[in-house]
Amino acid sequence: HATPYTPALIVGTGYGAAVTALRLGEAGIRTTMIEMGQQWNTPGPDGKVFCSTLDPDRRSMWFHRRTEAPLDTFLWLDVVNRDLGTPYAGVLDRIDYPNMGVYVGRGVGGGSLVNGGMAPTPQRAYFEKVLPQVDADAMYRRYFPLARRMLGVNTIDPRYLEKTPAYQYARVSRKHAHQAGFRTAVVPNVYSFDYLEKEERRTVPRSALAGEVIYGNNHGKQSLDKTYLADAVGTGNVTIRTLTRVTTIRRQGNGYLVGLEQIDTAGKVLKRSELACRYLFLGAGSVGTTELLLRARETGTLPDLPAAIGNGWGGNGNVMTARANHLWDPTGPLQSTIPTLAIDNWNDPVHPAFAEIAPLPVGLETWASLYLAITVNPERGHFTYNHSTDRADLHWSADQSTPSVRSAQALFDRINKAVGTTYRRDLFSGNRPFAADFCYHPLGGCLLGKATDTYGRVVGHSNLYVTDGSLIPGSLGVNPFVTITALAERNVARLLATDLKP
Ligand code: FAD
Repeated sequence: HATPYTPALIVGTGYGAAVTALRLGEAGIRTTMIEMGQQWNTPGPDGKVFCSTLDPDRRSMWFHRRTEAPLDTFLWLDVVNRDLGTPYAGVLDRIDYPNMGVYVGRGVGGGSLVNGGMAPTPQRAYFEKVLPQVDADAMYRRYFPLARRMLGVNTIDPRYLEKTPAYQYARVSRKHAHQAGFRTAVVPNVYSFDYLEKEERRTVPRSALAGEVIYGNNHGKQSLDKTYLADAVGTGNVTIRTLTRVTTIRRQGNGYLVGLEQIDTAGKVLKRSELACRYLFLGAGSVGTTELLLRARETGTLPDLPAAIGNGWGGNGNVMTARANHLWDPTGPLQSTIPTLAIDNWNDPVHPAFAEIAPLPVGLETWASLYLAITVNPERGHFTYNHSTDRADLHWSADQSTPSVRSAQALFDRINKAVGTTYRRDLFSGNRPFAADFCYHPLGGCLLGKATDTYGRVVGHSNLYVTDGSLIPGSLGVNPFVTITALAERNVARLLATDLKP
């Protein structure tokens, strides 16, 4: 039997992968996408596709025995996380390394299924510093606007923001930030704010107002399966294979041969097979793409891959913290899971931070203000291949998170001082006011201009491309998916003009 063949193969279905699939499909190139997670379109016994953060079940986590929410305790009690029984191919994964837990989405749409939908564009000056090889003019004139339009980015109606009980938590945090002299900013999102207003009026089923987000939103969110991927499949040239993991990559002729492992939702391996392709695009995310290339280099299937693969990883300076409010400053029992305001201290010369005001949607008054801060952290981690586990190990020491904590602390110390409040220590295990040992924004591992050329072509390997967050060197200053999308648009436009023949 001849090995099955597809002209173009894309690993993963996150942002970079979805952009690439659409543009290849439009160009008439037959393309197969391989996704290890599920297609999330089938309701469970409760009639819902996804479970909520308030009542998580096996759909919540990717083969974990217990949920691993970023807040692990409440009033120091172990009441947040739940046992899940038999491991299942759920939608959120947390990959644990010493000193760093990396959250990622699993399923058709990747991170778009589980993320908060926040869709800011980075400040141009910082973008130019992070990715100097990229023509910023083309990005800001063409590719950022294109990405925002394709992703369905919208902004909350300011009148609604000011009056809804669902954003009282945001208004309280904004007031405190202003009291301390900080600026705040409205952050665009891909969750439909029209839908959200209807949720409040109860004319549609609730999602953002029903505690749904990190384990998926049943309504309202324009995740990639509804935007880029729907369009890609609509070209008639793109197919998506789910519950299938790419394990190995080797060269064959002028293309590649990838090893596949198909599983069921309980994780049982049903079949191992191979698929040949002419063009191979890696969109498995920072961890996934880096691991595939490291494995190929270190097990000798692609021994000449660049030494730079595995380097330049960062968690976008993520740090979570919470403040205890005065009794006269309640944040409200109804909290939209979709954040819409941020404290913008990015121009601070010593401690730049962009802190999104996050909800604590537990359905009762908590008097807590929660934040996910994005900070500048010059530290970088690196991955090495572990022969005994066949995985990539991330090397990140606890000390490397210190610059992030310092920047967040500079901001929130000032707010606490101005308002006369303190930190909450009951939300993160170990009595800590800051949690910088996990991240939502893994970036890097296959850096643009180092492991690849300036368009994502893997150095020394024709027809092999990287198209996701692993290209970005560890930091962006804002939430990353708009940038990952825009960069993928730019790169694939060039590759279609130069490398790919329909
Ligand atoms: P991903 O979206 O990670 O997609 C990679 C895909 O590849 C996944 O579906 C994965 O299952 C699949 N895959 C991996 N390895 C393999 C393999 N070997 N074989 C087959 N398939 C594979 N960003 C924002 O901009 N705004 C936000 O508000 C925001 N909130 C977030 C909240 C949470 C809880 C999380 C986890 C992330 C959040 N992010 C947010 C980050 C954002 O989702 C990611 O930056 C983005 O999804 C990365 O895109 P990507 O294309 O690099 O890969």
